[in-house]
Amino acid sequence: MMIAPHANKDATVSIMIVIGTRPEAIKLAPVVQSIKSSSWANPCVVLTGQHSDLIDPLIESFGLEVHHHLHVMQPRQSLASVTARILEKLDHLLIELNPQAVIGQGDTASVLAGSMASFFRKIPFAHVEAGLRTGDLSAPFPEELNRVLTSKMTTWHFAPTEMAKTNLIAESVPPSKIWVTGNTVIDALKLCLSRVGTQSASAQRLPWADHKDRDVTLAAQDQAWQERLLSERPLVLITAHRRENFGEPLRAICQAVVQLADRYKEHDFVYPVHPNPQVREVVMTMLNGRANIYLMPPADYPLFCRLMEKSRLILSDSGGVQEEAPALGKPVLVLRDETERPEAVTLGCNRLVGTNTQRIVDEVTRLLSDPKQYEAMANAGSPYGDGQAAQRIEAVLREHFR
Ligand code: UDP
Repeated sequence: MMIAPHANKDATVSIMIVIGTRPEAIKLAPVVQSIKSSSWANPCVVLTGQHSDLIDPLIESFGLEVHHHLHVMQPRQSLASVTARILEKLDHLLIELNPQAVIGQGDTASVLAGSMASFFRKIPFAHVEAGLRTGDLSAPFPEELNRVLTSKMTTWHFAPTEMAKTNLIAESVPPSKIWVTGNTVIDALKLCLSRVGTQSASAQRLPWADHKDRDVTLAAQDQAWQERLLSERPLVLITAHRRENFGEPLRAICQAVVQLADRYKEHDFVYPVHPNPQVREVVMTMLNGRANIYLMPPADYPLFCRLMEKSRLILSDSGGVQEEAPALGKPVLVLRDETERPEAVTLGCNRLVGTNTQRIVDEVTRLLSDPKQYEAMANAGSPYGDGQAAQRIEAVLREHFR
């Protein structure tokens, strides 16, 4: 796809925004929008193509204009080859377009290659969601290394929280180069829910029935489940697809879901399944065909926000979900042993439960049977921002280029 860059009439500055994966698209969409609404800069959106299939619906949902697509995705690509391909293709694009700044987000191969390509061409790089750390280069792998290295090549560090700022300062980043903005995911969430709220009732039908990735076995269930999910039945939402959880941990998570679905028959357990075969095969084998478990294709963002809103609690190993759910007052049991998002755990809205079957079952049972504990988690607060992060980022860049 090659669309002519959006032109702000009087703008003199071109800013390249590099997007690789689903969370990057969600978290950078508000930044693109803020720059687009400004009078001083033009955004140039580059998709690396790391996760094409998950990004296409987001481009549509957020009305993002894509200017360049690097199409790096190849079957069974290694981390080294995908990083190398993004680096080389971005370098060509930087020479061709010569932007005044580049923006990347998070901790993927795209942000690592984006910051490195910019550094080599001496173009200043802005890192959105800077400073998240576990302190362990092997967990999460390779994301911790990607973000540590990216920080070394960054000019503007946009930290979501004070703790992220502290992490950066501990690595000798000058405080004058760090801005605590909140996380742009809260901007995206608010944007999305406000749009859903203004849609007509017919447009609010749960829209996954036509999803191209849908299994034939799931198709027959769709109609009944659409009705059911719009009903008052309590819902537990599940996402699990982190690399560290492939194999035995994911099987243990699925085993816990089986036991919980048996114990809580009045609840529905809804799991949008990531297309990665290592996830799909395990989940479909262990969870498909059970009366109160619904396996569905990855949900488009507006639908996923609605599922989060409707859920009683969420079981997830996702980073973004750990940030979004507290803003909706939904407790998250985090299916990991560590997290680079400790703020929500400290505040009490999220709890690290790991991937042991019995532990997951016990923690869910405790929450569902003890209203006091449930309320304490649901009302603990939201530490990841106020929905104004993208505007703050735009303001810092505007000030620089003034
Ligand atoms: N998400 C989505 N549809 C889904 C599952 C998740 O839109 O079916 C969103 C979710 O709201 C969050 C982001 O995708 O904003 C998280 O993506 P993922 O878990 O892949 O990555 P991580 O956040 O762990 O980097």
